[in-house]
Amino acid sequence: MFEFVLFFLAISAVFMLAMAHAAYREQVPRGVALSLAGVFLSAGITALLVLYQGHPIVTQTVPVLFWLTLVFIVASLIPWFPVLKKADTANIEQFDERNHMFARGNLKFHPELGNRYHRSHPEKKAVDEEIWRLPELGEPGSKFYDRYVSSISDSAFDLLDRSYVPLSNRPPVAVPAEPVDPGKLMEAVRITAFQYGAVDVGITSLKPYHLYSIAGRQAGNWGEKVENHHRTAIVFVVPMSNAYIRHAPSLPAILESAHCYVETAKIAHIVAEILHRQGLSATAHVDGHYQLICAPLAEAAGMGHVGRMGIFMHEVYGPSVRLSVVTVDFDLPETKGNHEYMEHFCNICKKCADNCPSRAIPHGEKPVSRGFAHWSVDQESCYRFWRKIGTDCAVCIRSCPFSKPDTLMHRIVRGYIRRNPLNQRLALLGDDLFYGRKLKLPTRNVKWKKLPAVVRRAAPPHPGC
Ligand code: SF4
Ligand code: SF4
Repeated sequence: MFEFVLFFLAISAVFMLAMAHAAYREQVPRGVALSLAGVFLSAGITALLVLYQGHPIVTQTVPVLFWLTLVFIVASLIPWFPVLKKADTANIEQFDERNHMFARGNLKFHPELGNRYHRSHPEKKAVDEEIWRLPELGEPGSKFYDRYVSSISDSAFDLLDRSYVPLSNRPPVAVPAEPVDPGKLMEAVRITAFQYGAVDVGITSLKPYHLYSIAGRQAGNWGEKVENHHRTAIVFVVPMSNAYIRHAPSLPAILESAHCYVETAKIAHIVAEILHRQGLSATAHVDGHYQLICAPLAEAAGMGHVGRMGIFMHEVYGPSVRLSVVTVDFDLPETKGNHEYMEHFCNICKKCADNCPSRAIPHGEKPVSRGFAHWSVDQESCYRFWRKIGTDCAVCIRSCPFSKPDTLMHRIVRGYIRRNPLNQRLALLGDDLFYGRKLKLPTRNVKWKKLPAVVRRAAPPHPGC
């Protein structure tokens, strides 16, 4: 019994030491201080037990510590969660892309379309016009605007916009006579995805409710019915670098966001081309040119869950990812995964809701819209805040406990919270203690020389790059 308690204390001290190291690497001074305090506490208790072995207090304390430790270990290992009510997908209404904030923001430059939209949605006119008066992202006048650096993300988004049509207009190819082998085809798709920076690839069947009903983001096809009769969606996940996102909501957040939208778009365009060369009809869905909503597709492909902040949370990288999709008129074996434990975690965590500067994230139950209960944010409040600060904010992403870097320490914690609600409560308590419940937000941009793109010794943002 005595040796068991000493062994557990030694393991705790090593764990705390590893946590101090992880916190140091992540530049979280509070985490370093608390972990080191934990190391000294474990070491101190061990020293007292050894020095006063045989003393009546030690003799009485050891069995208490032993049983507490045993109960803790057994309770941590029990795999159990209450059953969640499944979303009823039978009556889901498709989302009209014209109602999306980005689509409505764009109407400022197309007054005729704006008038048409506001004739059928008069309740949105006042808030849209209020937002139109704010500076565009990347324009002077916003809080974090920088004449040179703001233009980086703006230029990257422009690249995505202007390259979409030329890249999608593919010349006809000679279709191979042999039928397509799905396994070999997916091998080529995965090689492309991982070589170009993806960390995950998922496949799911495409359902009508995944698609927008009416196009709204681009003036060219605004108001047209979205036509896509493909059977399968391939989803690509590219992680964002923590070294940028930890500066949210200042400019580095949107630099990394734009960077990863470009990276994931490259993958989608190349994969669509690969499928085309096999004689298959395929469409790349990239930022600004999605015919579908990526988050529920990524969840259906078993790669994670849609979280309280209304975006997709990957099982390893959390919401700190960017997605692209390729739809194809061909059946491929679906990928599967159950991440309901993430939903349970969102029910108790609410850290994104507490930290959202525009209070756009709900604290309560899932709101109901389009015929089913699902997480969504108040998009007007969120987007208004973006336009005021000149970035895409990402404070919710930064605050999320799932956004931690993929280190051994965080892998252990991810495994721990998959087992039961008690583990999740303890892990959340630890996250609040080490990282703080409320984030301290920057009031100005970081010195650019501190960003990994400038500091050559920093780790590359993507494994293998
Ligand atoms: S911060 Fe918490 S509540 Fe919000 S998405 Fe992440 S896990 Fe869920
Ligand atoms: S991006 Fe910012 S404003 Fe929008 S929901 Fe997240 S935290 Fe709130």
